[in-house]
Amino acid sequence: METFTSPDELHAWCAAQKRLGRVIGLVPTMGSLHEGHLSLIRLAKEKCDIVVVSIFVNPTQFAPNEDYAAYPRHEEDDLALCRGVGADAAYLPTPATMYAEDASTWVAETLLAKTLEGAERPTHFRGVCTVVAKLFNIVQPDIAVFGQKDFQQVAVIRRMVRDLNFPIQIIRAPIVRDPDGLAKSSRNAYLTPDAREAALSLSRALREAAAAVAAGERDARRLEAAARAATTASGWIPDYVQVIDAETLTPIQTVLPGASAMLLACRRDGLRLIDNTLL
Ligand code: AMP
Repeated sequence: METFTSPDELHAWCAAQKRLGRVIGLVPTMGSLHEGHLSLIRLAKEKCDIVVVSIFVNPTQFAPNEDYAAYPRHEEDDLALCRGVGADAAYLPTPATMYAEDASTWVAETLLAKTLEGAERPTHFRGVCTVVAKLFNIVQPDIAVFGQKDFQQVAVIRRMVRDLNFPIQIIRAPIVRDPDGLAKSSRNAYLTPDAREAALSLSRALREAAAAVAAGERDARRLEAAARAATTASGWIPDYVQVIDAETLTPIQTVLPGASAMLLACRRDGLRLIDNTLL
């Protein structure tokens, strides 16, 4: 596996791969890799000749009050995991190699990015879109794989790709969970045993919502109220619990099975978890 820290060197290497006719896949990550990330890399390997994994804790998607400095970083382990699943290149830039000191250009999606995570974190998706657009320009992948875990992120990226004519196919990979249902996340490392046990209420609430829809429930407000009550009872206080149209992310009254999703974000002890399910 090749490793790169320079955007120009990675770009030159990817361009050489393209000239050889190879299909390139990109998996953007912030590192501290777990099975969720590895499933994305494996999926990219199935669909592409060459897979590039970026590992970059992107400062521009964190607000000043968020956990940028404390975000877990495990580069050596990450490289071993990438090698283990057959990644062809890993890209580990520093903030200084990614952003000129006087960088003054942003990529911002201005509709889907406003609600849900965007309401809580108003500059988050601007940082995500900007770094992903930069990665797309550096790597020029044919395919990029993102996780359903960050449901809104995939929708925002797809919109950016459509609106800016990036010739890239975006794949949404399913959520990987621990055996007890907790969605895998680099931030799970922060959970105390009690908080982790209580956090099972999030995935349970989502499973119950999906089961209720399968049994005929269509009332979005009733589904939200039940999920909200269940997580609150466990001490995980919702920022939002929202049933939405899975394409437009707009809140809906009536679930349309196969075209709706429930998204939630909850806080406890200064920690914040997100999870979701298609309905
Ligand atoms: P992150 O390192 O948190 O920025 O995540 C990098 C990519 O991995 C994003 O596309 C995430 O949606 C995806 N991802 C994170 N956790 C999971 C998971 N549990 N299952 C599937 N994909 C995930």
